[in-house]
Amino acid sequence: MRIFVFLFLALSFAGVSAASETEPSVGDLLREADQVRTSDLARFDALLHDLDALAESATAIERERVRLLQAHRLITRGRSEEAVVVLRDVIAEPAGAANKFLAGSMLANTHAITRRFELALHALDAMLAGQSDVEDKDILHRGLLVAAIVYNQVGEFRLGLHYAERVLDDTPLGRSRCAAENLVHEARNGLKERVDVARAMESVQVCEAEREPILAGFSRTYVAEMLAEDGKLEDAVALLEGYLSVVERAGYPLLIGQYHAMLAEHRMKLGDIEAAEQHARHAVSSTSSLASALPLVVAYRTLYEVAEHRQDPELALATYRLYAQADKAHFNDVKSREMAYQVVRHQTQQQAQQIELLNERNTVLELQQRVTEQRAQNTGLIVMLLVVLLASIGFWAYRTKRVQMRLRRMAEVDMLTGIGNRHHFTQRAERALAQCARAGEDAVLVMFDLDHFKLINDRFGHAAGDCALRHVAAACVPLCRPVDCFGRLGGEEFGILLPGCDLATGRRLAEDCIARFAEIHTADCGHVFEVTASFGVTNSAVSGYDLTRMLSHADRALYRAKRGGRNRVCVFETSLDAVALSLASAAMPTGDGADPDAAGVDAWKQGVAVG
Ligand code: GH3
Ligand code: MG
Ligand code: MG
Repeated sequence: MRIFVFLFLALSFAGVSAASETEPSVGDLLREADQVRTSDLARFDALLHDLDALAESATAIERERVRLLQAHRLITRGRSEEAVVVLRDVIAEPAGAANKFLAGSMLANTHAITRRFELALHALDAMLAGQSDVEDKDILHRGLLVAAIVYNQVGEFRLGLHYAERVLDDTPLGRSRCAAENLVHEARNGLKERVDVARAMESVQVCEAEREPILAGFSRTYVAEMLAEDGKLEDAVALLEGYLSVVERAGYPLLIGQYHAMLAEHRMKLGDIEAAEQHARHAVSSTSSLASALPLVVAYRTLYEVAEHRQDPELALATYRLYAQADKAHFNDVKSREMAYQVVRHQTQQQAQQIELLNERNTVLELQQRVTEQRAQNTGLIVMLLVVLLASIGFWAYRTKRVQMRLRRMAEVDMLTGIGNRHHFTQRAERALAQCARAGEDAVLVMFDLDHFKLINDRFGHAAGDCALRHVAAACVPLCRPVDCFGRLGGEEFGILLPGCDLATGRRLAEDCIARFAEIHTADCGHVFEVTASFGVTNSAVSGYDLTRMLSHADRALYRAKRGGRNRVCVFETSLDAVALSLASAAMPTGDGADPDAAGVDAWKQGVAVG
């Protein structure tokens, strides 16, 4: 296996502003700097200085390209650590996807050069993740080539081959093609597959045309190897020796060592011991600083074989020891690089697993949250439903209650006057009388009938009569206690039952009523007229606790009051009223003409003040 690390940091400047006719633009300077960065370091430094001065007029992308060139300069000066800082900085906050990708490829390459393969592989992973955002083909090729280099380095030749062929599929620029072809050969070599000799020769020409003697030199080694494998050792030797001076001029120690080591091996096989030894020594001297390089292993093995061949056991042992040492160093180096890949893959897998685990946890948490939200929503709905239900029940209960109360009021109240109707009066009065009977208490009944009410209706109209009825009821209400039963018995006839009261109290109440009626002002009825009534009073002590009997007795006394001239109070007296009662029933109907009432009407008529 060849070890193939090269500093391949060409920057692409496609897309930077076009050259101006007069003064070189930032784009021109960037292009020139890229061209001379390996061939003319003094000019390169001067250009970097000029670019620094022009930073103000440069775009963000151009300024960042200058930083990448500065990082390149640091790498060539062996200041990789500082370069890494710059590159990481650009990757963290890039001015564009292409710059980020380019910086990523430079970072991976820098780590590979300094043999920190784990870091190189991590940088590659990050870089490759952004490859689909890179439109500039040349920048994309730079990155893919670095990927192929690093993967070949860590023994992942399949991946190396994949990325190198991806570049070739894209018909890349000559320089990239030369590098990609070399990487394909290297990968095939690592995979123990045959290298296509014609193709290897073609890549030699591409690399020479691009003035890449080192890469052309490597391509030739693949051709030589195939020739040797096919038993054409002389041809292989001729090819390698023919270009040995060119390779030595290129000055890349690893490649020089490689040529000499291969020549030593082949010469040995051809039996040319002297030449084999010479090449082996050259190989050792050019690669002695690269302790783990493969050419060193091959060279020491050849020297050992030479010593064996010369039957010099002491030298054989010494060279064998060196061979074993170099072989072990090389083996360790290969294994440590392969191990780096395994470690990174393991870390990546672990990271992916952790991410997956976190994602799963997130999903579980999200589901839990959704369940909680759903539950809260359901509870809210239930509460809302209950509230609505309770509100409607409350509303219907309230309405029903109101209807009930209205119906009850309608059933109990006299609509004209607002006091109890006959039915309600009867119910309440009977209950009160029963209670008084049980308690042995007295109760008094006051009954009154408006005087000549028919005349009021006739003279002032029915509405004025209604109005007078309301005034009368309103005048009595304040005189009654809550326990008293006051009601309209019908027409212009009223009754008041006072439980727990005696006759005198009943009479007093009737007289109070007369006094109040005298104060009634009927102007609001449309006419001014007097309202009087005749009162009949009886108590339970005289009439007993039967309401019908009490009403009948009070009515008798009232009748007496009418006959006595109206607007007065008469108390039921058995001696008078019981007789009158029987007389009345015998003489009925009496007729107003024969009645002393007739004279009373006339008198009343004259007394009424008409408004
Ligand atoms: P007396 O002094 O003898 O009681 O004479 P009177 O005219 O009051 O008695 P009568 O029984 O002859 O007439 C009662 C009148 O009351 C007849 C009726 O039209 C009237 N009346 C009965 N109920 C109402 C009512 O609700 N409103 C009005 N405006 N008049 C009514
Ligand atoms: Mg009447
Ligand atoms: Mg009347």
